Amino acid sequence: MKVQGSCHCGQVTYEAEVDPEKVNLCNCADCQMLTGSSFRVSAHAPKATFRLLSGQPKIYVKTADSGAKRRHSFCPDCGTPVSSSADTENPTTYSLRVGCLKQRAQLPPKKRTWCRSALAWAQNVSTLPAIDTQ
Ligand SMILES: [Zn+2]
Ligand SMILES: [Zn+2]
Repeated sequence: MKVQGSCHCGQVTYEAEVDPEKVNLCNCADCQMLTGSSFRVSAHAPKATFRLLSGQPKIYVKTADSGAKRRHSFCPDCGTPVSSSADTENPTTYSLRVGCLKQRAQLPPKKRTWCRSALAWAQNVSTLPAIDTQ
């Protein structure tokens, strides 16, 4: 699926081709912290399909408890997460943050990972009172 992405302020824009069957919901503690939320949903795009159209994301190299490093890119102005990849100049794939993609409603996650660190309260929010703010 061809997707278009943008950060919140609009400075960083990009497009790519993602496999809708490989959308992942990650419950790891790093994803919770780096999103400031309860989990992260990502779609994988082969590097060859990823095209940065505008802006220059800033890179943060995250070191996991295992020692593995990943490059996380984000907008230097608004801080919106854009993607992550292996810590190399030539990664094979980019992990795109689904919430920043125009097509996000058509990209439901197909699996959950790091379930042992999942926040219990985040697993079922459909019972909460539903209020739409204007
Ligand atoms: Zn931005
Ligand atoms: Zn994660």
